[in-house]
Amino acid sequence: MTYRNILEKIRLAFPQPVSDSIHDSYFVHSMMRALDQVDALKTHLPFLGSIIHGDFDKAKQTVLPGTIATVEEVTKELVSYLEGMTIFGHPRTQQNVVCPTTIPSLIGVLLAALHNPNICWDENSRLVALAEVEVTAMTSQLIGYDPKRSSGVFTFGGTGTTLYGVKIGLEKACPGTMHKGTPEEAVVFVSDTSHYCAANITGWLGIGTDNLIAIPTTTENEIDLVQLEEEMRKALTNGKKIACIVATMGTTDAFGLDNLMCIVALRETLVDEFELDYQPHIHADAVIGWAWAVFNDYDIEQNSLDFRPRTIRAIAGACRRIRHLNLADSVGIDFHKTGFAPYISSLVLVKDQTDLDLLKRTPEQMPYLYHFGQYRPGMFTLETSRAGTGPLAALANLKLFGIEGLRVILGHIIEMTQLLREHLEGHEGTTVLNRGNFGTVTLFRVYPVGVDTFEIKSQEFEDVKYRDSLIAHNAYNREIFQYVNSEAMEGRGVFISTTDCYRKTTYGEPIVALKSYILSPFIDEEDVKTVVAKVLEAREAIGESQTTNSNGGGGN
Ligand SMILES: *Cc1c(COP(=O)(O)O)cnc(C)c1O
Repeated sequence: MTYRNILEKIRLAFPQPVSDSIHDSYFVHSMMRALDQVDALKTHLPFLGSIIHGDFDKAKQTVLPGTIATVEEVTKELVSYLEGMTIFGHPRTQQNVVCPTTIPSLIGVLLAALHNPNICWDENSRLVALAEVEVTAMTSQLIGYDPKRSSGVFTFGGTGTTLYGVKIGLEKACPGTMHKGTPEEAVVFVSDTSHYCAANITGWLGIGTDNLIAIPTTTENEIDLVQLEEEMRKALTNGKKIACIVATMGTTDAFGLDNLMCIVALRETLVDEFELDYQPHIHADAVIGWAWAVFNDYDIEQNSLDFRPRTIRAIAGACRRIRHLNLADSVGIDFHKTGFAPYISSLVLVKDQTDLDLLKRTPEQMPYLYHFGQYRPGMFTLETSRAGTGPLAALANLKLFGIEGLRVILGHIIEMTQLLREHLEGHEGTTVLNRGNFGTVTLFRVYPVGVDTFEIKSQEFEDVKYRDSLIAHNAYNREIFQYVNSEAMEGRGVFISTTDCYRKTTYGEPIVALKSYILSPFIDEEDVKTVVAKVLEAREAIGESQTTNSNGGGGN
């Protein structure tokens, strides 16, 4: 076969550059076939097809095929990779902070992928670059930044948003690090329930994880302000430079919210007292919590959307912290966490756009780009190529939901979470651990029959005499988890997850917890009740087999 024959076939595998209605419908049809095949994997269970464990050794031996394949053949193969995937929108999925994605956000991703804009520069992305600016404006306003002064860029994940915050702060505290490298005296503060990305970032930036100071948290999973102040004073007294204070606004495991207002006030005090010639940068890691800002001006008393009293209380409890997001110098937002957009859709906002100038390269460093055009974020972004998929997906959802829609979808999952907690608290064998956190994640523990759950929680958390009991109950909760999830696998019940360390006891032992993360708008009251019923059933089932060998459960 001459290359021309093969080329003809290859051309058919591309969307046509000039409209060709027959081929256009072939393209649409190819998509539909793929979606049909995925749909065929759906059952009543909360995952596609059946769960197959991948053969990673075999995968390492994969070789590049010698000849071309058809669109149909490739599609069929691609679909097979979705086998076993969790359906995150399924009412029986309450596993983690992974959201189901909306149709408009999927179309946003498709459109951006189809015409491949590169938003490093408007010259390469035309109006798609506008989407980034519009989303920045909308979310700035939402969290209380002045959109005329603020700016923002999409980046490679929530991790990337915090990276921007820390890098900007580093440059403020130690000017010239872009050229001279990172000095040894830079330190970064976070709470000990913050996301581990802070360790990545200090590691990769050359600040060093030894200079990442993790401050203990209160039982509400909020940074302990007294200890933060002490540590900041100590650092400044020892001649350290504070590159950044990362306030976590919605911790991953428990939805703890740091007290941003007090952190900002503390910064002001210390700047005066130590006569600092820079302002230590405050970055709010709000990748999860940002969405709660839609309730900042919801009239709680009037409650026009008719949420239950417990829901209203949870909203008010979160907003008392989220309301102050505008005090942070920069904020990280993940539309792929609580914005119902596909990965990756992460936006870092800076309150003052001149902060981004600190990251700018000189035009001489980039001779082939940015000679003209109005929008050139590529002059300071870490990435060179940046996809239009994130901004278009985010824009799609902001336009789809509007403030009211976001209030409804968030309000509903908050309502379901509160209902779950109500039911969990209605039984003597179960206890909610993060009662003071108002997100849609619930951490709870189950105790065997005969254990006084009113006493045990504080005893195990505070009294080292209960170490053995805590460890035994850690194992017990892992067993409960195994039981509940193997039932869910058979179509009986709900998938939940577990965490190996919800937090540490006062004597340093990790506390294992069961975890329900509610993010699907399809979850309803019965699904929540099922979680509780299944957990209690597991307690019965395990209790009988355990009574003889769990003497470790005794406290003293
Ligand atoms: C998920 C998460 C991150 C990391 O975000 P990615 O988008 O996964 O990179 C950072 N901080 C918090 C609080 C998170 O929950």
